Amino acid sequence: MLIMAINAGSSSLKWQIYQMPQEQQIAHGQIERLGSQNAVFTAQYGQGQTFEKQEAITTQELAVTLILTRLKSLGIIDRLEDIQGIGHRIVSGGELFKKSTTISPYTTQKIEHLGELAPLHNPTEAYYIQVFAKLLPQAKQVAVFDTSFYATMPAVNYLYPIDLKYYQRDHVRKYGAHGTSHRYIMKRTAQLLHKPVEQVNLITLHIGSGASITAIEQGQALDTSMGFTPLAGLMMGTRSGNLDPSILPYLMEKEGIFKIADLMKILNHKSGLLGVSGVSNDKRDLDEAAAAGNKRAQLAQDMFVNRIVKYVGSYLALLKEQPDALVFTAGIGENDPDLRWAVGQQLAHLGVHIDPVKNQVRGQEARISTPDSKIAVWVVPTNEELMIVRDTYELIDNKKTAL
Ligand code: AMP
Repeated sequence: MLIMAINAGSSSLKWQIYQMPQEQQIAHGQIERLGSQNAVFTAQYGQGQTFEKQEAITTQELAVTLILTRLKSLGIIDRLEDIQGIGHRIVSGGELFKKSTTISPYTTQKIEHLGELAPLHNPTEAYYIQVFAKLLPQAKQVAVFDTSFYATMPAVNYLYPIDLKYYQRDHVRKYGAHGTSHRYIMKRTAQLLHKPVEQVNLITLHIGSGASITAIEQGQALDTSMGFTPLAGLMMGTRSGNLDPSILPYLMEKEGIFKIADLMKILNHKSGLLGVSGVSNDKRDLDEAAAAGNKRAQLAQDMFVNRIVKYVGSYLALLKEQPDALVFTAGIGENDPDLRWAVGQQLAHLGVHIDPVKNQVRGQEARISTPDSKIAVWVVPTNEELMIVRDTYELIDNKKTAL
């Protein structure tokens, strides 16, 4: 059976197709600058074959039509009817969706309403569900929420210390993000450690251009660094992460910023590694600049490590037992030995010891700590799409509704 994973953004659409239950990826691709006259359609399939075309793709419906048409014309699949499931990444499930769920008109409407919490994503994602229902009516659809992994967090961790009425009336709480990635890493690491997933205690570090750290106790999320939105927590590529909220009105007055939306743009898109370094949001550019003596690039790197260390330290304290492992993943976590080494050095007095040779691994599963390290350290590449496809397969195969 073929299952498709869909990851829709406001101006991009990423897709993958898997043969299940073999978990064999048969094609993947994306459309960038969707909504414009010069969108870029790419697909990778077969034995390293690639299709790429720059063209006008002005609507979501046209985007999906093109993907479906080309799946056939490129010979990737024989019949569209073979696609039996579509799994959608949904950014916010709010407090309503605690697990992945099969899609009905009710769930689509709820996903759209949750646009209140994720205005740039949920409405678009709900719209794609409707487009697929129209263009591929025989396929069952499933929603996989970035937030649902965090449904198990206790109130002490998800509540903010403000008047409780803002939670009760306005739903202000920590929802977390990157949940599908952390969940995949938890399951895969449990396998690698030969432990039942309900027994693993981990600290998972998803360090990419977006970055978050999650504390996992007995196979459940205990706390995570992202918050009401993904702006919270660690310093990131372009996001500030946590800062004193009083800075906001102060900056507005000092800098003559009149709209809160403009300030949010600064915090979301012009801060983090980019803002501090003034060079780039890409870790590789900063490595180069710092090596060439750029002090701001070095400062940005040091602050980045500092925030990671502080979160790991607080989660080590929060977990009731020592974790089975610290697990690095995502673009930087998987590929940047220097970053991992710097974090390990800071944690050495807690018994974390990284092996400098094993640490050279990039983009591959490996235990990188020394045999005598009190806490194991692993690199495990993430695979959110596979998690989406697995959930979709499981739900449509067993016909369970997991809401
Ligand atoms: P992601 O958001 O997970 O795709 O991660 C993007 C980040 O990973 C960017 O900051 C990249 O610079 C970083 N990255 C990707 N490959 C490497 C690499 N080989 N070495 C260092 N950083 C990398």
